[in-house]
Amino acid sequence: MLGGIEAGGTKIVCAVGSSPDQILASQVIPTAEPAISFQQVCAFFDKAQAVHGKIDAIGVAAFGPIDIDPGSPAYGTVQRTPKPGWAGANWVDGLGRLPCPVIVDTDVNGAALGEWRLGAGRGHDTLAYVTVGTGIGAGVLKNGRSLSGAGHFEMGHIYPPHDYESDPFPGRCPFHKDCLEGLASGPAITDRWGIDLSQMPVGHPAFALQAGYLAHLAATIILTHMPDRIIFGGSVMKAPGLMERLRAATRILLADYLYGGPAGGDLVAYLVPPALGDQSGVTGALAMAEARAAHAAH
Ligand code: ZN
Repeated sequence: MLGGIEAGGTKIVCAVGSSPDQILASQVIPTAEPAISFQQVCAFFDKAQAVHGKIDAIGVAAFGPIDIDPGSPAYGTVQRTPKPGWAGANWVDGLGRLPCPVIVDTDVNGAALGEWRLGAGRGHDTLAYVTVGTGIGAGVLKNGRSLSGAGHFEMGHIYPPHDYESDPFPGRCPFHKDCLEGLASGPAITDRWGIDLSQMPVGHPAFALQAGYLAHLAATIILTHMPDRIIFGGSVMKAPGLMERLRAATRILLADYLYGGPAGGDLVAYLVPPALGDQSGVTGALAMAEARAAHAAH
């Protein structure tokens, strides 16, 4: 039996399953202060274990920044975050009373893994996953393993060119102001325009602006990682027409430089939405637990 948790800024999705594609029970818990959230998450797994049997491992795909180095004494600790109470909270400790190992990775790495196993990333050796929602983040998998350096990547905080004349919005990242997340996250859009992208008419200038900013991330990921495919998910990407505009804007930035390669054409099969919808993260979290359980069995 596997446990999976996708922890976001507004909600925490918990699931148990016999495999990543066989979810037997799940529950959505609003993200509260860590002590309350950990207690509610543990209560879900207590109940699930009573019905479905002992859980072998729990995978956590969590919002960051977070320590994801299994060799670190702070493994599973949430780092600098504006989310109230969460800086310093530790997922391994928080779930410590559950009698199974806890594996922690970022939400985007988890979503990437879910899509690689069962969704739009199947068969792609190098896969990138980008989420554009409350924040912006990206992860890259190589043969199903998430890449990292001394910590996980922070690609949502790159600085795209910002023309103050066409976009006077100063940006809202508490650390960098007009980094990509500060300019193009869901809250940045509503701060700038007063409404969501999905509430705007198709010809609204917000679409071109948004696509232009996100194209800088797409091009940066392509030029630095050369993935076989990039999945763009998250609530903002659900706005009709944004994906098409993102492909067009990315093509302009790449300027046919990669002609003939996977990122060289119209990008229709290259920049794609997630196939698992909102289930990518929790599916990936279950896959993390599965890998750990399989490892423990040897
Ligand atoms: Zn930033």
